[in-house]
Amino acid sequence: MSGYDVQYDVIICGGGTSGVAAAVSAAREGAKTLLIERTGSLGGQMSVSGPPGFAYARLFNCYGEQDTAGFVEETHQRLYKAGHALPHLRPAHRSPGAYTFSYVDPEWWTLLMFEMMEENGVIMLLDTLVTGVLKEGDKVTGVIVENANGRNEIKGKIVIDCTGEAYVAAFAGCETECVSRDEMQPHTICFTADGINWEKVLQYIHNHPDQFTYAQLLHRTSDLTREDIYEAYRNVVDVKELGEIMGFFQLRDNALLNGDWHPYSGAGFFLQPKEGGRILAHFQHSTQSDHCLPTDAWDLTRCHIECRKQLQVAWRFFKNYVPGFEDAYIVKIGTELRLREGPRIVGDYRLVRDDILNTRTFPDAIGKSSFPAGAYHTANVHSLSSIGSQKIGSEKAQPEGSYDIPYRCMVPKKIENLLAAGKCVSTDRPAYLRYVQQTMVTGQAAGVAAALCVKHGITPREMEKDVSELQKTLESQGAIIFKTRTLEDAVKDYEYKLWL
Ligand SMILES: Cc1cc2nc3c(=O)[nH]c(=O)nc-3n(C[C@H](O)[C@H](O)[C@H](O)COP(=O)(O)OP(=O)(O)OC[C@H]3O[C@@H](n4cnc5c(N)ncnc54)[C@H](O)[C@@H]3O)c2cc1C
Repeated sequence: MSGYDVQYDVIICGGGTSGVAAAVSAAREGAKTLLIERTGSLGGQMSVSGPPGFAYARLFNCYGEQDTAGFVEETHQRLYKAGHALPHLRPAHRSPGAYTFSYVDPEWWTLLMFEMMEENGVIMLLDTLVTGVLKEGDKVTGVIVENANGRNEIKGKIVIDCTGEAYVAAFAGCETECVSRDEMQPHTICFTADGINWEKVLQYIHNHPDQFTYAQLLHRTSDLTREDIYEAYRNVVDVKELGEIMGFFQLRDNALLNGDWHPYSGAGFFLQPKEGGRILAHFQHSTQSDHCLPTDAWDLTRCHIECRKQLQVAWRFFKNYVPGFEDAYIVKIGTELRLREGPRIVGDYRLVRDDILNTRTFPDAIGKSSFPAGAYHTANVHSLSSIGSQKIGSEKAQPEGSYDIPYRCMVPKKIENLLAAGKCVSTDRPAYLRYVQQTMVTGQAAGVAAALCVKHGITPREMEKDVSELQKTLESQGAIIFKTRTLEDAVKDYEYKLWL
């Protein structure tokens, strides 16, 4: 039964990457689960405003061991079997830097999310904005929503904030932290193009391998030199091996001199797979507007207007300067901004940069990651190499390659019956767990945790005393918690293909 008069076990606010993972995993553990989403679609930054360039990337650490699976692996495999994903791509020049791709088609990913909600009995309420919470003392008891029905209250035993910007946590009175407007990383409008002559693009790459950004490929655990990478680029036979194509330095500089490139981002794109092996180019850095607080609608409006102007400049550059784009055309422009940074909750544990650098383990681990700390973007032509300029090469997790994500990062201080998942979990700025694979790891864990709290009649904070059932349940859903999966095991377990 659904409706406003029903009390739900678990209410998930926000149907982005964390929200869908939370909804499916809560419902699988028997919770009566309601997923509320502001737009008419699911996926958030993965679909409505995305996808992220390297969505479904970095599932393996620099030693080639898989550290992210569960919902991520399950959805990747389903899409791969249906012809809507590329296999885990691990070309020799990318694996030592752990910068590998496992691309999915975002449109089919979104359709799969709808399918999975229905398969698992998740109740969806779309086109609905959560505008407040119901509270008794420090306990959250439900949410207030506004939509075509007007304003309504909905009761729930546990609420999970998956809004990306910690809106629900803020409504509940949780402490949150956020950088200032001046420090805020730039936001963006992404777009996707088809009709590219990849032969011509490859020809250019073969002849000019020094014109691209490689910062993330040169890793301290790797013996690869810049010259080795150039050689790999000279010999690439299939554009899919590249994953991202960022740089075009000389062409961009010529364009800048001619007034044909705007100075707010570098030039480049990621790849997007389509049925039958077709590849599109996906641009997520070609528009960048900074000094914009995601919690201020006037800032967001300015950012929307500015990014759409930059988009046209960027596209004219690709059409007029980059070989292979002469007959290309835009097939999709994001209708929502991609918000790179925003508020995070202050939780019972705050994951920090040193935890990542020291690959810390935690007894209450709910998943792992090997994404480095401290990657910040800036709105200038070096934006695409900003990761390198932040010395990310030396900030890689070490020595094992993967660090733990503790459960307590999702439990806000002081407020009860509320969990946070996705981009807004508790971390310092360098340890920001905002990457798609990480948001699905915390989403899945929050969903299971909420369902178990309801089952046992305890609060999420009380669960901190013993997370063994949570960990066991997550493992039964395929999550990697204690031990990374070796390449040999992955090959054995999955329909797994190396791109070598
Ligand atoms: C420019 C950019 C580039 C990025 N590049 C990459 C990349 O290359 N690789 C990568 O892995 N990650 C990348 N990321 C990060 C990643 O895309 C996001 O951090 C991640 O998708 C966030 O997931 P989420 O579930 O926390 O939030 P979101 O995906 O933002 O989902 C939040 C959802 O909540 C809904 N919502 C918000 N408020 C309310 C409300 N009040 N009521 C109801 N619903 C609400 C929204 O509509 C949305 O659907 C990038 C991010 C940006 C901005």
